Amino acid sequence: MQLDSKVPSGPVQEKWDKHRFDLKLVNPANKRKYEVIVVGSGLAGASAAASLAELGYNVKCFCFQDSSRRAHSIAAQGGINAAKNYPNDGDSIWRLFYDTVKGGDYRAREANVYRLAQVSGNIIDQCVAQGVPFAREYGGLLDNRSFGGAQVSRTFYARGQTGQQLLIGAYHALAKQVGIGQVKMYPRTEMLDVVVEDGRARGIVVRNLVTGKIESHAAHAVVLGTGGYSNVFFLSTNAKGCNVTATWRAHKRGAAFANPCFTQIHPTCIPPSGDYQSKLTLMSESLRNDGRIWVPQKQKDDRRPGDIPESERDYYLERLYPSFGNLTPRDIASRRAKEMVDTGHGVGELHNGVYLDFSHAIERLGRKVISERYGNLFEMYQRITGDDPYEVPMRIYPAPHYTMGGLWVDYNLESTVPGLFVIGEANFSDHGANRLGASALMQGLADGYFVLPYTIGDYLARLGPIGVSDDTAAFRAVESEVTNKIEKLLTVNGSRTVDSFHRELGKILWENCGMGRNRDGLKEAIDKIPLLRDQFWQDVKVTGRNEDLNQTLEKAGRVADFLEFGELMCHDALHREESCGGHFREEYQTEEGEAKRNDDEFAYVAAWEYTGVGAKPTLHKEPLTFEDVPLSQRSYK
Ligand SMILES: Cc1cc2nc3c(=O)[nH]c(=O)nc-3n(C[C@H](O)[C@H](O)[C@H](O)COP(=O)(O)OP(=O)(O)OC[C@H]3O[C@@H](n4cnc5c(N)ncnc54)[C@H](O)[C@@H]3O)c2cc1C
Repeated sequence: MQLDSKVPSGPVQEKWDKHRFDLKLVNPANKRKYEVIVVGSGLAGASAAASLAELGYNVKCFCFQDSSRRAHSIAAQGGINAAKNYPNDGDSIWRLFYDTVKGGDYRAREANVYRLAQVSGNIIDQCVAQGVPFAREYGGLLDNRSFGGAQVSRTFYARGQTGQQLLIGAYHALAKQVGIGQVKMYPRTEMLDVVVEDGRARGIVVRNLVTGKIESHAAHAVVLGTGGYSNVFFLSTNAKGCNVTATWRAHKRGAAFANPCFTQIHPTCIPPSGDYQSKLTLMSESLRNDGRIWVPQKQKDDRRPGDIPESERDYYLERLYPSFGNLTPRDIASRRAKEMVDTGHGVGELHNGVYLDFSHAIERLGRKVISERYGNLFEMYQRITGDDPYEVPMRIYPAPHYTMGGLWVDYNLESTVPGLFVIGEANFSDHGANRLGASALMQGLADGYFVLPYTIGDYLARLGPIGVSDDTAAFRAVESEVTNKIEKLLTVNGSRTVDSFHRELGKILWENCGMGRNRDGLKEAIDKIPLLRDQFWQDVKVTGRNEDLNQTLEKAGRVADFLEFGELMCHDALHREESCGGHFREEYQTEEGEAKRNDDEFAYVAAWEYTGVGAKPTLHKEPLTFEDVPLSQRSYK
């Protein structure tokens, strides 16, 4: 396997423009001779499918939800970054680039990050043109707020529903193309494999989730915008359906998986309330603009928060990081919260949270302003916990939220399988070892609206409008593998539920490959996961049948993939003997408890090649060089 990042030469500011000129074009009249498959209709998939159709390609778009509008992107709350500098507070493309490389703890590709910052402004213009109702200031300009890891306000938002509003915009663009027949939409259809013929991605095999029918679709290129895999931990802030199946099965067909252990644990989530919970809820990072995080100085202090005087509170982020305070990046805020809870300062009945307190902001700005900014988030919190955040501080604790790891892609967003492109959270992305808040929406839309439409054209132009067909031996072979796997799941007929296996896997990963990792724990997880996987295949009970809507069967297939993928995460975490961003190896920390990188040995992207279930994967390294943002110890003090 060869990793060629295809980063263009020249100064970072000129790479993308130069590259766009160098890319081959498909003549407008020829575009209709090409078929493109887009799997996923979240922000990345919907924006890509709509843009490719607008260009004239024939697009088929797949999603497992009943409507493309229900993709998990709809859950995004806080906002989307762009270097517009509307508040005139010193932002620029260069600063967004710098913040993102530094925020990712120097484990992202500089050229990609610069391009992301460069097109960020176009995204906002595009979305405004679509009618996305971003918040505005009295003067009419779009309003901005701050997110972690930045000292400027560059986050555009639509109250606490930014993802929903952006997705409606992308959906309108997609629906227009569906209406004119340029996109054919396949909802409730799950991609279960990629078909590779003559070394190129030629199509996919899918299951109709309502009828159980297995079908093949051929195309000139396949695009995966299938989102992230935080649900590998079982409990996460992601929609329950989010999974790793599409990317994992592509990995098994030859696509390298990059940095799988780089997962983001978000600091502001509602703490778990018991053992039987199946979902965790995010409280947007935007709340850290006005909320102050604190714990009681005394351990196991069960007084009500209002009874604890200021002098007995520890506003630990403000104390430890005076320049960034409550807006330190997520990895740091999460680790510090864990440290507070682990050392006995946790609050709430289970002592498993820290306070996020709005009383000072309400005193300063008034309840009305706070309600305008965060009203829907406060309401959501109150409905879930029964506490009114206008009156008592919220309780928060870190939870799995986002995955920086994903399929390896080059500068063109093409994986190691020619013709297989990966966009949005599904690729290993531009966020290095830690994503800054409000940058996922930016990346997904950058990929879909502004990068892929150029780069895929180059691939298609070189390929030529050759005939494509799913009537080949390769498609039949993959269909039969997919069918056998489904039959196998239905015939085990054991005694344990799918969820019980998933929960157990999640616990292994959370404890050994979560916020803190160490050599012994990772080795233990690598021993335990294959045993659990064997048990799964001997004892899982999948009720119902294939020919109906059967969510237990869907889940079983996804958990089977998580059981293979979790092992890769641990191999990746074990081999990376350093701490960086969201990957915190307890053996490698500074005296102040900060992540200690080892740039001499680990300044690379770890791209893994599949070698078989349970077999040790092969590591390939893409070296990372930092010419424009010199490597330095990250500091937010
Ligand atoms: C609660 C929450 C709040 C967030 N808030 C923010 C925020 O404020 N700002 C920010 O920048 N980021 C935020 N994020 C992160 C951001 O929402 C996601 O990273 C982003 O929306 C992912 O978009 P996507 O298009 O890559 O994937 P998704 O939106 O997850 O879409 C995946 C698509 O792929 C389809 N799919 C997946 N597998 C298959 C398959 N096998 N077959 C067929 N279809 C498949 C799904 O049906 C879906 O259409 C938040 C995340 C969460 C969990």
